Amino acid sequence: MSKSVVIVGAGGVGSVVAHKCAMLPAVFGTIHLASRTVSKCDEIAKSVLERTGRSITTSSLDADTPANTVALLEDLKPDLLINVALPYQDLVLMDACLECGVDYLDTANYEPKDEAKFEYHWQWAYQEQFAKAGLTALLGSGFDPGVTNIFTAWMLKHHFDEISEIDIVDINGGDHGKAFATNFNPEINIREVTAPCRHWENGEFQETPPLSTKLSFECPEGVGTYNIYQMYHEEMESLVKHIPSIKRARFWMSFGDAYLKHLEVLQNVGMTGIEPITYNGQEIIPLQFLKAVLPDPGELGESTQGRTCIGVIAKGFKDGIEKRVYTYNICNHEECFAEVGSQAVSYTTGVPTMIGAKMLLEQKWSGSGVWNMEQFDPDPFMDDLNTYGLPWQVVELSPEQYSQFLS
Ligand code: NDP
Repeated sequence: MSKSVVIVGAGGVGSVVAHKCAMLPAVFGTIHLASRTVSKCDEIAKSVLERTGRSITTSSLDADTPANTVALLEDLKPDLLINVALPYQDLVLMDACLECGVDYLDTANYEPKDEAKFEYHWQWAYQEQFAKAGLTALLGSGFDPGVTNIFTAWMLKHHFDEISEIDIVDINGGDHGKAFATNFNPEINIREVTAPCRHWENGEFQETPPLSTKLSFECPEGVGTYNIYQMYHEEMESLVKHIPSIKRARFWMSFGDAYLKHLEVLQNVGMTGIEPITYNGQEIIPLQFLKAVLPDPGELGESTQGRTCIGVIAKGFKDGIEKRVYTYNICNHEECFAEVGSQAVSYTTGVPTMIGAKMLLEQKWSGSGVWNMEQFDPDPFMDDLNTYGLPWQVVELSPEQYSQFLS
């Protein structure tokens, strides 16, 4: 039986989610897209109609005022709210879902606006309330977090008795032709990249200066060789909690020299700051002003070429023997644009968002409370990745290949 969803956020990711949900009418019977700027919703709805023949409804919503979302949910009575607005809206949207008895899903953990802290404790604190209400909240159903959690859980289920180390490697081998642009929301992206690096080792997070650890990584299937930099990423927190055998967890992302040069200059001149300053008598946040002058990631699709390659390299034991397994997806920017009018970073996030929603609506994943992706059975999700546009590969690495990969 088809169900109804409300998608909040009409950005790069929201557009992919709307298109992909519309392609599955048997699951997503009614789709409503709400965001602060209704014209963005209407543009997406027009593209969805042209590409899929389906009409979706839209409305303007400022989710920062909880009563607005409550009114919308009371009016539409959806089965699920899909939050692809910004991490700042996570808690207010969870509150609205609790008040209206609606399941909840997001792609990024809550962040307070005044501090770049990516931690789950604010959302995990809702466990009891969701459990008592008989509602489900699924956290982090994008690619990373999201698919990377599922890759790890799937490798644990099918390839290991125990995983001791993971390296999550996110390569964007794409080129958008701009001097400087971020491939998802610039404010969130820059907060994440400039935050102190943390990785899990010896039972705690170890902190090092941002972007201070660098390796060279050769991607499979000719995607290329890239400099990858260690940084903090939120899925490490939930993975080490739910898979406690993991003794070391690291996250790596590729950055080009031009991106890093621009970022350094912007930091040096204070443009990445999140403390308010007064300009012409008005309070502004430098990073928010910077976002306003940077290219909109949602508009980069047409000019972006190349491929992304995101995966997890796990090391552990099977039948007492040490082994290393790499599971990854390669995604082509131009193919994504041809299918839904978006670049691969929005696409690799939006497809798993749709699949996570599908898991809940089809009751393949169910249970009251607040859940991270690795807590559910990874198999149906892995099948759907192959079916709906993000096919994956798995390879066993020899000790030599493993050390070459992470050289
Ligand atoms: P965008 O900035 O392109 O889109 C965000 C959208 O949210 C905008 O349309 C914006 O509306 C809307 N929005 C912001 N504030 C509010 C509000 N108060 N009420 C209603 N709508 C609001 O971001 P992306 O699409 O690139 O990213 C969306 C989310 O996906 C982010 O949380 C990001 O962190 C996450 N993400 C997750 C990834 C993963 O792999 N897990 C990877 C990439 C992104 P308006 O335009 O009117 O301001």
